[in-house]
Amino acid sequence: MAQALKLEDLEIMRTLGTGAFGRVKIARVKATGEFIALKSLKKQHIIRTKQVDHVASEHHILRITNHPFLVNMKGFCQDPSYLYFGMEFVPGGDLFTYLRKVGKFDSTQAMLFAGQITLMFEYLHSMNIIYRDLKPENLLISADGYLKLTDFGFAKIVEERTYTLCGTPEYIAPEVLLNKGHYKPVDWWTLGVIIYEMLAGIDPFNDDDPMLIYQKILKCKYQFPRNFDAHAKSLVKHLLVIDLSKRYGNLKKKAEDIKRHRWFKNLDWNELVNKNIKMPYVPFLPSAGDTSHFVDYPDSYSNAPALNSAHDPFINWNS
Ligand code: AMP
Repeated sequence: MAQALKLEDLEIMRTLGTGAFGRVKIARVKATGEFIALKSLKKQHIIRTKQVDHVASEHHILRITNHPFLVNMKGFCQDPSYLYFGMEFVPGGDLFTYLRKVGKFDSTQAMLFAGQITLMFEYLHSMNIIYRDLKPENLLISADGYLKLTDFGFAKIVEERTYTLCGTPEYIAPEVLLNKGHYKPVDWWTLGVIIYEMLAGIDPFNDDDPMLIYQKILKCKYQFPRNFDAHAKSLVKHLLVIDLSKRYGNLKKKAEDIKRHRWFKNLDWNELVNKNIKMPYVPFLPSAGDTSHFVDYPDSYSNAPALNSAHDPFINWNS
């Protein structure tokens, strides 16, 4: 349960990363020695970019969710200039950095990560929350090698279709681009994109020109590299489907169709959610509060890099 946070109780240290609307630093709770991740959002910037509703929604969603594969909020506070979210510190860095380091994953490793993402979305959708911004940068690696989803800035509680254009070009679903209204299936599309990226080392609709990315997405035009796992290929083909009435995750059995797909046939879903399966990669962490898995950032706002990833998000212009 999130508590009130007091900045004077914290020793604030280096920057871990920056997102579209804020900066995340590691901080030590002086009284307990516990490390947390402190996300600060500049109020002026939030107002100027009309993100007030999204930030309120992020705060609300962090408060009401509780799942082993979602980042947990520890507390919240504000001062005249900033809002601060205290979150559990996830020390292994993000999946984007790890994936770029190793190139691609073998089928078992990709399957274990994809299984966790499936459970994240199943849980969020059961609460009518759509996430809308899956990408490897938003998946953090815990000390035990399991994933934690972070950044709920684009997540939204919805009862029906929503029309906001948001997401990240390479990961955006065709129905979002067509602005016809979109709903939970957008997340299952992005699961297809990330499974492809984990196994191929590059996203399926990649192109230097964003307009060509969109054209490829609208035509669902992509090719599998040789040696792409056959079972994973079958699942990707059921997820990267333009016709929503045929996309896995959006059929009568919802996430069950994905969970029962043959790529996952050796996976015990209960063991996975209880974290009883040993992950193929466990980050080396010599001490609590180790930040060696995060790239170096300048700590001032003036010279901050724009973003820390190749997958830059859209700015949404309405909610
Ligand atoms: P965000 O603005 O939430 O997308 O976060 C930007 C970056 O900060 C992420 O890509 C991570 O590198 C880092 N980060 C965010 N949340 C955490 C966390 N709970 N623990 C460790 N690092 C985090």
